[in-house]
Amino acid sequence: MNRIVILGAGESGAGAAVLARVKGFDTFVSDAGPIKDKYKQLLDQYAIPWEEGGHTEAAILNADEVIKSPGIPNDAPLVQKLKEQGTPIISEIEFAGRYTNAMMICITGSNGKTTTTSLIYHIFKSAGKNVGLAGNIGRSLALQVATEQHDYYVIELSSFQLDNMYDFRANIAILMNITPDHLDRYDHCMQNYVDAKFRITRNQTEDDAFIYWNDDPIIRRELQKHGLKAHLYPFSAVKEDGAIAYVEDGEVEINTPIAFNMEQEELALRGTHNLYNSLAAGISANLAGIEKEDIRKALSDFRGVPHRLEPVCDVRGIHFINDSKATNVNSCWYALQSMTTKTVLILGGKDKGNDYTEIEDLVRQKCSALVYLGLHNEKLHAFFDRLGLPVADVQTGMQDAVEAAYRLAKKGETVLLSPCCASFDLFKSYEDRGDQFKACVRAL
Ligand code: ADP
Repeated sequence: MNRIVILGAGESGAGAAVLARVKGFDTFVSDAGPIKDKYKQLLDQYAIPWEEGGHTEAAILNADEVIKSPGIPNDAPLVQKLKEQGTPIISEIEFAGRYTNAMMICITGSNGKTTTTSLIYHIFKSAGKNVGLAGNIGRSLALQVATEQHDYYVIELSSFQLDNMYDFRANIAILMNITPDHLDRYDHCMQNYVDAKFRITRNQTEDDAFIYWNDDPIIRRELQKHGLKAHLYPFSAVKEDGAIAYVEDGEVEINTPIAFNMEQEELALRGTHNLYNSLAAGISANLAGIEKEDIRKALSDFRGVPHRLEPVCDVRGIHFINDSKATNVNSCWYALQSMTTKTVLILGGKDKGNDYTEIEDLVRQKCSALVYLGLHNEKLHAFFDRLGLPVADVQTGMQDAVEAAYRLAKKGETVLLSPCCASFDLFKSYEDRGDQFKACVRAL
């Protein structure tokens, strides 16, 4: 095998190209859109030929193997052509995995990936381990494998990255939960999405570990079907059959492989969902042999991740929280569940096939008003208007949404941005949406 073509030159594509080049392949990069300057410079630095703004098919269809960026859908015409002619298409993580013997700690799930990944990285880093942070978060795995040497990698994996993984093996695989998300990319078939998530266990052996949320009905059902070889480490909020990590009488307990405990009060991250994230992170650190004292300290001094239930400030007695990363209904459920005051909820955006039934009860219990923020708010009107709450419809942008929420909120209440939707109708990204929210709030 000689020629490798990389489709898409973002963080993962540019990193994969460097690794391919360093390993001596004839390497070519093609991006249908514009390539960011920093990636052009990186490619030039390694003398890797690239093109942007379109694909030259002749220079792509002659590849021995193609590395596809996770953002490119499987039904893109060029991808279809490659498949028809039998060219193997892999992900950047799959490719990078071939060139490292480091311990791979991989995190997936519908919600909680970034928080858990960041927390695990923080524990390993604080304990003095030589660890790299990769995947959907931080720098690409491929670039780190090409240019650095780490003993451990903590890797956040989306279902799109898992889609094109075949021989990759996770030493520690973590599956936080499975709830509907991105169904538009899986032919609106939930099982396709579930199967993608379970690929994280592919190739695991008796020497590996699979950490998962014990109370997730889909994971439990799938586990019966799959008969995994890896050791199982289920966690739960409460002590119950099967769970090896849980909370009992205010103490976080992990039973195996080494008994570990700490006071729940001392955990830096609050809310039930974050308890799960802390448990999963604690188990993986325990499995890697990190000292109990180091785990306790890191679980208690972690600073959190922006745009995930991030407190912004109080304005005249109204508390503002930025949860812009809540891009699906389930993460909004957890955000609402953790609210301790009446809440004005700002939601809306690009709908990914949402079913709002899941949050209906919590909206009734916790919300005093709703602000619909999106170009197309019809679905929100159709579902929520009948609850009889005051509603504001904003199609213009964040400033009007924040002002509307501020007018609707009473002293002592919380304004929560937890949109249930992707951001691309009015914003560049969820970060842009969250940053604008924070700026508008601070300008009130
Ligand atoms: P991901 O990377 O999977 O999108 P994040 O850690 O970025 O997950 O969190 C995304 C959203 O999901 C946040 O709004 C957060 O409040 C919520 N969340 C975080 N952890 C969990 C969890 N374990 N279960 C459900 N929701 C969660």
